[in-house]
Amino acid sequence: MTSDERLALALLTPGFMPPDEGLALYELARSRPEGATLLEVGAWCGRSSVFLGTGAAEVGGVLFSLDHHRGSEENQAGWEYFDASLVDPADGRLNTLPHWQRTIALADLEAVVVGIVGESGLVGSRLSTSFDLVFIDGGHGEEPAWTDYRTWAPRVKVGGVLAIHDVFHDPAEGGRPPYEIYCAALSEGFEDVSRCGSLRVLERLT
Ligand code: MG
Repeated sequence: MTSDERLALALLTPGFMPPDEGLALYELARSRPEGATLLEVGAWCGRSSVFLGTGAAEVGGVLFSLDHHRGSEENQAGWEYFDASLVDPADGRLNTLPHWQRTIALADLEAVVVGIVGESGLVGSRLSTSFDLVFIDGGHGEEPAWTDYRTWAPRVKVGGVLAIHDVFHDPAEGGRPPYEIYCAALSEGFEDVSRCGSLRVLERLT
């Protein structure tokens, strides 16, 4: 499958990633070194996984896609981003894993995108891999956002990039934790290199 076909599929996949920001992720992934290792935290139904995975495929890389697939706080019943069609009738819980898996198969990316199902902090406590790119787009609450940042930002290689989604400078536009971890990165060895919408891309200098 060509990259253009994969990107067209990404655009049809349910999710919260605006097209221009998804394409920015694709460009970022394909600009990584040959054989790059990438990580995304927060995968939902696989929309961003396909944008990143398409870029990773072009450089012979691998994308690890980490999610517990039970939805974040803001995805649960009664919250703003709830989708009843994603509830598993067997147990009444949100489950995006079958949708994510189908997306990766449809995009013919099973040899490039590897799913990890579990809690970010727990996975990080047992895995020591470092990455050419880390994309944080998990839970946007205080606890999950800081856990994702503290766990995975130190795993970005020097010269590698940390991308953070839903960073809003103006509190009226969105929640604070993604902005706060972005600010922390700026004071902890990362430099702003590009932005697109609410996507911020930082490079590790030291
Ligand atoms: Mg997001």
